[in-house]
Amino acid sequence: MPARKATKKRSRATAGQQAAPAERLRTILTRLDKKYPGVRCALTHTNAWELLAATILSAQCTDVRVNLVTPALFARFPTPAAMAAASLPEIETLIRTTGFFRNKAKNLRGAAERITLTFGGKVPNTMKDLLTLPGVARKTANVVLGSWFGIDDGVVVDTHVLRIAHRLGLTKNTTPEKVERDLIRILPQERWVDFSHQIIHLGREICIARKPRCMDCPLEDLCQSKDKTWSSRR
Ligand code: SF4
Repeated sequence: MPARKATKKRSRATAGQQAAPAERLRTILTRLDKKYPGVRCALTHTNAWELLAATILSAQCTDVRVNLVTPALFARFPTPAAMAAASLPEIETLIRTTGFFRNKAKNLRGAAERITLTFGGKVPNTMKDLLTLPGVARKTANVVLGSWFGIDDGVVVDTHVLRIAHRLGLTKNTTPEKVERDLIRILPQERWVDFSHQIIHLGREICIARKPRCMDCPLEDLCQSKDKTWSSRR
């Protein structure tokens, strides 16, 4: 049997895809900085209470929708004490269009009561205390700590971060807690807050769930996702 000719295996991976993990991650962060310099939380707020309430409302809802609802909500209940004294039907009426409004109203009032009774009316600034508030899990706590208090205690893992971390091969896990743990392990701590904001922007504009616009993506040559699509149309 004739010896088989050794053939050079053709790789379709680009140099970016082949880069060592640390170098690749550095390139991803540099490109995100270039594309989204100085990004901030898109939820309108002027204090920690407003940011906390807006983040609770943002579950299963767009930031645009939340920003339409919060001006009237904050005008009516400007402090946790005011919200703690509110009736649930009144809160529900004001937040109805954000979805899951009954549950969200309960969480808003419950969080306001606990902030008023236990934390002297001030939104706490530690992960441990924030997690004792109704409706607050690590995602919401990380938003408040990172975007208001400037404390990088963790990485916000919302639906965009979850999806794109997978597409970029930064995690194989599927639960937000485990994905956050993976991101914390590989990202420099000073990038934890900005990385989430940048990825959330990328997820809204380009790496959208159903049909990512890979032609417009600054990370295209670094991405080996099976979800890649090449139409630039939304
Ligand atoms: S190349 Fe496509 S799938 Fe990969 S991160 Fe960019 S938009 Fe998302």
